[in-house]
Amino acid sequence: MSTTTVTDAAKPTTNTIVEELGFPSDPNNLYTQTVTTMLEAAECINLRRRVKLILAQPKNEIMVHFPVRMDDGHHILFKGYRVQHNNALGPYKGGLRFHPNVHLDDVKSLALLMTMKCSLVRVPFGGGKGGIKVDPRAHSVTEMERITRRFCSAIMDVIGPEYDIPAPDVGSNAQYMAWFADTYMMSNVGKDAHNGLRVVTGKPVEFGGSLGREKATGQGVVDTLVELLPEVGLKVEGMRVSVLGFGNVGSWAARILHDMGAKVVAVADHTGAIRNDAGIDAHALAEHCQITGGLKGFAGDAITTDEFYQTAVDVLIPAALEQMITEREAAMIDAKIVAEGANAPTTPAGDRILSEKGIEVVPAILANAGGVTVSYFEWVQNKTSTYWDIEKVDRELNRHMVMAARRTVLARQQYKVDLRTAAYIAALDHIGKAYSVRGIFP
Ligand code: GLU
Repeated sequence: MSTTTVTDAAKPTTNTIVEELGFPSDPNNLYTQTVTTMLEAAECINLRRRVKLILAQPKNEIMVHFPVRMDDGHHILFKGYRVQHNNALGPYKGGLRFHPNVHLDDVKSLALLMTMKCSLVRVPFGGGKGGIKVDPRAHSVTEMERITRRFCSAIMDVIGPEYDIPAPDVGSNAQYMAWFADTYMMSNVGKDAHNGLRVVTGKPVEFGGSLGREKATGQGVVDTLVELLPEVGLKVEGMRVSVLGFGNVGSWAARILHDMGAKVVAVADHTGAIRNDAGIDAHALAEHCQITGGLKGFAGDAITTDEFYQTAVDVLIPAALEQMITEREAAMIDAKIVAEGANAPTTPAGDRILSEKGIEVVPAILANAGGVTVSYFEWVQNKTSTYWDIEKVDRELNRHMVMAARRTVLARQQYKVDLRTAAYIAALDHIGKAYSVRGIFP
């Protein structure tokens, strides 16, 4: 238990909070990086020390171990996480990552980013994140179903449709959410069971999901770009784009931009990288990846990862995992804008190099907030037993993204900071005001 005193009496610096709370001193630690960036923005607006302290650590960190029977009869013990970072603005909200390298510090960072994201786009949610240390590619569908259901039952008592609402993230999808919701509902039988549908978002459309949720994060990346492109004198038509990671976010952003007349000239994923100066057909590539599990074998010149980063483009969209753009990659990047489709893809050192090179970075808490925004729409539709048409979903999503982008640009002008700091400022200011009026219990 931390014995930190929550007081505004003394106002030590950002670093003091990092030291006081005993964060890892390793500069490569994602949580230390994320908190430091957040606290630096908090300094700009003189956010009260008590709020900084609260936001520097998640409210709850839940770790579970659960056994699951494999198809051949033997059992594997899995490790799962749910981190509930902050719920000052509403229920905890954030995805479930299914990946072999999931660690507590990563989940904590991603949960903090969810708090910032929800605040920035003004959806009434707090931030959370979870995950299971598992490689979905190494398991059959029936094994993944049992893993998902058993994980749901392991964390069922600490989540809920009004309290903490998971969603898909890297390695999970709408089918997993359907199994999750079904398990939750079947375990809470009774007249109110259907309420449990809202315990997760990102469900299939056939089972309470929202139209437009699947493409929402990619759509949000595009909506944000369209709003910000004039700032750097670019337009979508004819714009050269490269995409790192071709999962849900990367493939949807590429498909939407392709349809709007942009040229996707390079793509990289875990199976390789390709370049085609005449433009890659993003729809055909998405279909290829769906069938084969990666871009390997798709038409285009096979290039190295270094050549991918060196490809001259207007916009590079990192849409894979965290910490992929370090100093090394940043030094190679030849782009005008980096639009962060993934969460935390750029390290602070990478960020510094991009800034020195005059490359504009659209930060993740803005660029990829479209997913959680449509998750909120899904939750509202479930709560009110209504379904929105796709036009309404797209219109409302665009409104949230454009307003968040404008808030960020405004904060940049006001505080003379980069877009990342500005986005944090816009998010923190909103949370700070909520704490001012709520006060701190007791
Ligand atoms: N996992 C997504 C994210 O990182 C979506 C979260 C949600 O919809 O709750 O933003």
